[in-house]
Amino acid sequence: MLRSAMGTVINIDGRLLPPEEATISVLDRGFLYGDSIYEVIRTYGGRPFELDAHLDRLEGSAGLIALTLPWDKKRFSEEIQETIRASANIEAGRETYVRLVVTRGSGEIGLDPALAVKPRTVIISRPLVMPSKECYESGVEVAVVSVQRVAPEAINPAAKTGNYLNNLLALKEARDRGAYEAVMLDGKGRLTEGSTSNVFIVKDGKLVTPPTDAGILEGVTRRVILLAAQDVDIAASQLHLEPDDLREADEAFITSSIREILPVTRVDGEPVGEGRVGSVTKKLQAAFRERTGVPVDGEGF
Ligand code: PLP
Repeated sequence: MLRSAMGTVINIDGRLLPPEEATISVLDRGFLYGDSIYEVIRTYGGRPFELDAHLDRLEGSAGLIALTLPWDKKRFSEEIQETIRASANIEAGRETYVRLVVTRGSGEIGLDPALAVKPRTVIISRPLVMPSKECYESGVEVAVVSVQRVAPEAINPAAKTGNYLNNLLALKEARDRGAYEAVMLDGKGRLTEGSTSNVFIVKDGKLVTPPTDAGILEGVTRRVILLAAQDVDIAASQLHLEPDDLREADEAFITSSIREILPVTRVDGEPVGEGRVGSVTKKLQAAFRERTGVPVDGEGF
């Protein structure tokens, strides 16, 4: 088995390679058109968290862009676990970041998906890097940006595709304004999600997040948090929200597989609630970690 001193191993179509040997064709449609889908997964205690949910979503994304997956869920799962093992991060006391990408492959240059000969799978396994401790202790700032989330009728945000220009431009606007993450609105001015995160607010002790029909990616973390809220008796609902709901919230946070629950303490330069990480957020962070099997004092915040 290939062992990487650097903790990074790449699997291309079932072959494990060191990063310097992991190359694919410039004719790949993922490169030419963003014609691909992907998942980002992390490990807890060396085991991929919610792997089944990620693979279900991968299948959903494939369906939404009419991409035929090369492997079944069992094979994806085995290849991912093999790649994680080969990167040997857990032996070095680290958790692993996994990026699974399936492209429509390559063929004659041209938009028509029928030109693609065979899908290509890439699994990148490398040491996990979380946001800094400071981010979790002080919270981050988000900016409600002018770049709208692409409409479900254009490219359905429920599909996690490799075409991230919409999100990238939203994030650029947020970063240009000094914020850590963007919050995008839909065409009606309602909150959708962050560039790579889902958004939650807390008002009067209750948790609220936009529903899936708000035109968002249904985050795996989002789903686990809604369950974790039940564990600790926090009422949670999925409702359409406006930017003012975020500005007037008592607490807010963003979520993703890598960040878990990252507190938001400022919106467009103004404090959220008291401008500090709130008690409901802390309670949910602990409840979420319980579900990962690696409690709060293990790592991270
Ligand atoms: N929304 C978008 C657009 C994302 O890209 C991501 C993750 O990258 C999320 C939400 C959060 O999803 P998950 O919790 O499955 O990581």
